[in-house]
Amino acid sequence: MGGGSGGQIRLGTPSLFHSVAFFPPRVKNSPVMDFLRPENLLRFGYKDCVLCEVERKGEEKRCDRCSGRLGQRDRLLWEIHKDRIRRTAGMLSLLYPGLGHFYAGRVAYGIFWASLLPLSLGLVLNVWSGVTFGHAFLLAEAGMIWWLAWLDARRGPREPVAPCEGACPSRIHVPDYIALVRENRPLEALALVHDKLPFAAFCGRACPHPCEQKCVRNEYGAPISIMAIKRYAADIGYEAGIAPSSEVGEGVPGPKVAVVGAGAAGLSAANTLARMGARVTVIDSNEEPGGMMRYGVTEFRFPHESLLSDVKCIFARGIHFRGGVTFGRDASFASLEAEGFDAVLVAVGTWEALRLPGAGGEDQGFHDALSFLTRVRKKRPPHLHGRVVVIGGGNVAIDVARTALRMGSQEVTIVCIESRETMPAFPWEIGEAVEEGAKLLPGTAVKRFVLKDGQVTGFEALRVERVDLDPKGRVVPRTVSGSEFEVAADTVIMAIGSRAELPFIPPTAVRKAVDEKHHVFRLIFKGGESKIAAYACGDCVRGPGTVVEASASGRVAALNIYGNLCVEEVGKARYRDNYRRRFERQEPDRPEWRTRRQAERLLPGKSRGNFEEVEKRFTEDCARHESERCARCNLWL
Ligand code: SF4
Repeated sequence: MGGGSGGQIRLGTPSLFHSVAFFPPRVKNSPVMDFLRPENLLRFGYKDCVLCEVERKGEEKRCDRCSGRLGQRDRLLWEIHKDRIRRTAGMLSLLYPGLGHFYAGRVAYGIFWASLLPLSLGLVLNVWSGVTFGHAFLLAEAGMIWWLAWLDARRGPREPVAPCEGACPSRIHVPDYIALVRENRPLEALALVHDKLPFAAFCGRACPHPCEQKCVRNEYGAPISIMAIKRYAADIGYEAGIAPSSEVGEGVPGPKVAVVGAGAAGLSAANTLARMGARVTVIDSNEEPGGMMRYGVTEFRFPHESLLSDVKCIFARGIHFRGGVTFGRDASFASLEAEGFDAVLVAVGTWEALRLPGAGGEDQGFHDALSFLTRVRKKRPPHLHGRVVVIGGGNVAIDVARTALRMGSQEVTIVCIESRETMPAFPWEIGEAVEEGAKLLPGTAVKRFVLKDGQVTGFEALRVERVDLDPKGRVVPRTVSGSEFEVAADTVIMAIGSRAELPFIPPTAVRKAVDEKHHVFRLIFKGGESKIAAYACGDCVRGPGTVVEASASGRVAALNIYGNLCVEEVGKARYRDNYRRRFERQEPDRPEWRTRRQAERLLPGKSRGNFEEVEKRFTEDCARHESERCARCNLWL
């Protein structure tokens, strides 16, 4: 990919450094000259790559001075080892500033930090004449140097990433897979996505795409359609039957790990563990893997075949699946320990739906969003009577309303406490639901449900002035007294959130943070229930989130589990960060690149009548043109 044919755009005024004509052709076999070239210095930031695993025959040399043909396992082991080096470096820097930098091989930084402290203290001693305000300031400054040195050693060298990449919870190599699509290499693009995220088909369709919100192209027209490009690569790659990128070699240690929960976090963890050589078994109470992606997302948003593509690719790594096994009833920490598992990861998600006080059962016309969507997905939909009211303002509520419309309901109203502008659902989702015929009743709280002859007939509602959060972060609607009014409803579906059910975790278990940012915890059984190494991650720890966040959490959990089980193996990991891109032709911005391409969509009149996927895949031409707009920001940092 390094020898790309161009199409690279540059934003802003042309400069000599970036001009193609300014530099003569590179001098072959002259590493020093190559290194000193400004364009190479500018691009030194990007160091990781996965493409050697999927490169085409005869193109092995397209990457310049790659760190070597590393397998995916080596790269993952290096990720664990790198984190370990940082932690040790941080601890050493507490002993003396700069020590950690020397340990991590950052000699210049080590000399800098190590010399700052004596300089500062020397200054204090030199001018010492009793305690003064100035001395106190210098001593405080010495303490600050110590703290900053620790912080820098703990964080490690700065790794510049493009804004889109930095915004992605899974840190997918966005600019590079876009570049591969531009070069008409969707299979390689998919392999690159899989390095960080195994749910390319799902996240190409139903991701909140924070990457697009941070894309620099927002300032130059409109952001790149990153999600649609990912979907294009995923669909083409899966259609071509892409296999897991490389096999794990013989003789590597294969600890036995059980993953409880086959949702995004669990499958991502299982996938990462299997890539490193672990023998993984996934347990789930559902008969089929996929979790919320399978049962909580509607068909018109994420078709079943696409889910199968993601899931099949994960299980092709040799992962075992035990469906219909409820953890806590059919299996436990102790039973898994007795089976010889070395570790258990709990990633069960949030399956307990929240309900409003006074809501009755299904026979009275009340449903919760999770069981409603699950039944629709399992082709056993509940019967919806007359006027349907969906309570909730998030994306799930929108999905439920659009599903109800597709099931033939004539009147569907979304009621939520937030105003239209502050609804948690994405604005484009709300717009699509309204276009399909859903009504909105924002700023409304349910006071009490009204039932007649055992059937719900509506509810008494109150206007909401504003929404506050209590000290525990719970939503508290501030209603307007005397603003009561009635809302008629024959069916009420509550989409007000969900929480985790964890009855199998003993009350004596203590949670110890492993990676708080990614919501990974170790469970320590103080009551002696089991000696197995147990961890928890994903939504069951942090509460409901997105698939890309859960996947990132599962991946981090897997790296930590493997790192703890195979300490020696990780210690052997070596990786020379000396990868640099080949020079690429620069082109100025073009007017036509200011327009974002959109995938074809079903018109609301047609989409309402069936469960066909609403948004279509990019055409090849469309995907290439859209990817040409990308500024490859990772090369400019
Ligand atoms: S222009 Fe490309 S590299 Fe830059 S932020 Fe947007 S998608 Fe990422």
